[in-house]
Amino acid sequence: MTNLVLRNIGKRFGPVTAVDGFDLAVDQGEFLVIIGESGCGKTTLLRIIAGLETPDTGEVLIGGVPVNDVPPGRRDVQLIFQSYALWPHMRVFEDRKYANLTLPLRIRKWSVGAIRELIRPLAKALNIEEQLFDRKPPELSAGQQQRVALARAMTTYPRIMLMDEPLSNLDPPNRRRVRAEIRAFHKEQRLTTLFVTHNLEDALELGDRIALMHEGRLEQVGTAESLMRHPANEYVSDYFRVRPSYGVPFQ
Ligand code: ATP
Repeated sequence: MTNLVLRNIGKRFGPVTAVDGFDLAVDQGEFLVIIGESGCGKTTLLRIIAGLETPDTGEVLIGGVPVNDVPPGRRDVQLIFQSYALWPHMRVFEDRKYANLTLPLRIRKWSVGAIRELIRPLAKALNIEEQLFDRKPPELSAGQQQRVALARAMTTYPRIMLMDEPLSNLDPPNRRRVRAEIRAFHKEQRLTTLFVTHNLEDALELGDRIALMHEGRLEQVGTAESLMRHPANEYVSDYFRVRPSYGVPFQ
């Protein structure tokens, strides 16, 4: 079942065309990676889906319903972006108080026991050690903040999860670990996930399909294998060819 449809989405900022005639349909339960060079419009596209940016042209449908006029808080999407948006005055985790990891659950009136049962294993899986629970975000490293933001997003069970470079501050071991957790969580919860990255390894590891963007447009969308074996044009074939360490995974 199709969960998200983007029809002819366009967005300009003054003279800059950030997104240009973008069409895409994403299925319920699909993990779609959006990849492309810096400035090609990836973040703008996610912000349009989240409702934080208004498109100049086109329509966004979520679950078959047009949402152009629906405010961000009522779209049932969760956007995790590079600056994390953690609450600086709250600790990471306190089961009886409002904390970064518990606020979404407390708002939904979860019991202390249920909160503990969900958060402790989730924190462990994302390598958020218990000694970090009492800290506030300014006392955490960028990588630790990123993992807390991811864990918090995972407590909200949105219809669509939008992730904008959520692994950018993680060192390689944490990156691999958190990537595996994101994939497992996506599968368990049957989420629809759109994941923006510059990193081809993330794209190959995570994506059911990969959408390659260039200058605001969708160049091609498909499985990694189909993009590499049957590139729609020279830009797509060059994009994958210039990365020698990933050049031949499907021979
Ligand atoms: P990166 O990978 O570097 O994060 P991106 O692919 O996410 O880039 P966007 O952030 O969507 O790209 O930006 C697309 C284009 O729109 C860029 O040229 C950018 O400078 C421009 N842009 C984005 N937001 C604004 C804004 N609020 N005002 C003016 N120009 C903007």
